[in-house]
Amino acid sequence: MTEYKHKDRKPSRCEVSKKCGGCQYIDVPYDEQLVKKQRQVERLLKGFGKVRPIIGMDQPLHYRNKVHAVFDFRKGRGIISGIYQERTHNVIPVEGCLLEDEKADQIILSIRSLAKSFKIKTYDEDTGYGLLRHVLVRVGHATGQIMVVLVLGSSIFPSKKNFVSELCKLHPEITTIVVNVNNRRTSMVLGDKEQVIYGKGYIEDILCGRTFKISPKSFYQVNAVQTEILYQKAVEYARLSGKETVVDAYCGIGTIALTAAGQAGKVIGVELNRDAVRDAVANARVNQVKNADFYQNDAGRFMRQLAEAQEKVDVVFMDPPRSGSTEEFMDALLCLRPARVVYISCNPETLARDLQYLNGNKQQEKRGVKGRINGEERRESQRNLKEKRENRILYRVEEITPVDMFPFTDNIEAVCLLRRNNC
Ligand code: SAH
Repeated sequence: MTEYKHKDRKPSRCEVSKKCGGCQYIDVPYDEQLVKKQRQVERLLKGFGKVRPIIGMDQPLHYRNKVHAVFDFRKGRGIISGIYQERTHNVIPVEGCLLEDEKADQIILSIRSLAKSFKIKTYDEDTGYGLLRHVLVRVGHATGQIMVVLVLGSSIFPSKKNFVSELCKLHPEITTIVVNVNNRRTSMVLGDKEQVIYGKGYIEDILCGRTFKISPKSFYQVNAVQTEILYQKAVEYARLSGKETVVDAYCGIGTIALTAAGQAGKVIGVELNRDAVRDAVANARVNQVKNADFYQNDAGRFMRQLAEAQEKVDVVFMDPPRSGSTEEFMDALLCLRPARVVYISCNPETLARDLQYLNGNKQQEKRGVKGRINGEERRESQRNLKEKRENRILYRVEEITPVDMFPFTDNIEAVCLLRRNNC
């Protein structure tokens, strides 16, 4: 793991970058990207606590282990696959991407040519006719297992068997193929119905020495190399002694919970997505982790229930989506009073907002806008405020480490350690 010391790597320009809009930094040397991200994190978060240097990648290309392609038909060109032009539903053909796993990209190109030879019609979003809508490929970084999800507009897939056998002949590295049926006029990629047409219906990957089962709909970090670094940092921040009760909120398939379980007394994971929770339970079993329980629930509601039941919680990991956490969650957190909170964030702006809340600043703000008051009233109100702040358990940010999970894009991931004041 190198911090900050990267050779200039001039990425070749991507011909669709302007239309795609996914790589804001495609033509910026990698070292400069890291400097930009470091500056941005410092600008937003320095006021809360110490920001450590960003941890970058030694080889920042082709890191995405999850690849999505949308399929369409173009007159004169036939079947195309690629990406939606930014903020539109126009499909831009893509032959390969600098960020994506190269094998996954090759599989998508093979599906494109097989679709032509099998005369499979692509789905038309306007009329709702046609079959092939999207393809999703997921690659297990450490295991090499590959899952192909064919998203179809209908559950009737003629010549399915031959298609599968031709595809596996071209790519024997594929370990499973799943059909997902999405016949709704929606911009969501995946529909509800699934049928496994080859292999087990999921892949496994190994992270931090544990094996993880990943289903088509479960969230799994897209950059496995940096995820290991991120989790190691998160667990290091938790300073577990083997006795603690730990909550892993927004736990996905249980990756952080199961990484930490060996160093904790008990781990409780909570996650909204049913499939992910099912994977988390299976993952605990596969890894013979006996001290982890997983619940399907809204993380805020679950935390409130824990607080109402006056459960004892020592450490909380929280890894919410880009929108950040909720006041319900954080109010419950403040009631539960864990000694340490490890906040993993993929959006420094919502992280800043939530840190402000946990610092107790919101209360101060609300009380600050009181209008004109005389000197005695002001002193009285300041005394009240001080008392309230002292009574309320507030959290102090001890350290923040940005980890570059998304090279060539302007997305920033950071892990942040908060400690309860007075402990
Ligand atoms: N910690 C996991 C997942 C982080 S992504 C990992 O590192 O892999 C955020 C997760 O929060 C997703 O799995 C998403 O399904 C889940 N999520 C989103 N909103 C939620 C909510 N309100 N309550 C619980 N989980 C939620």
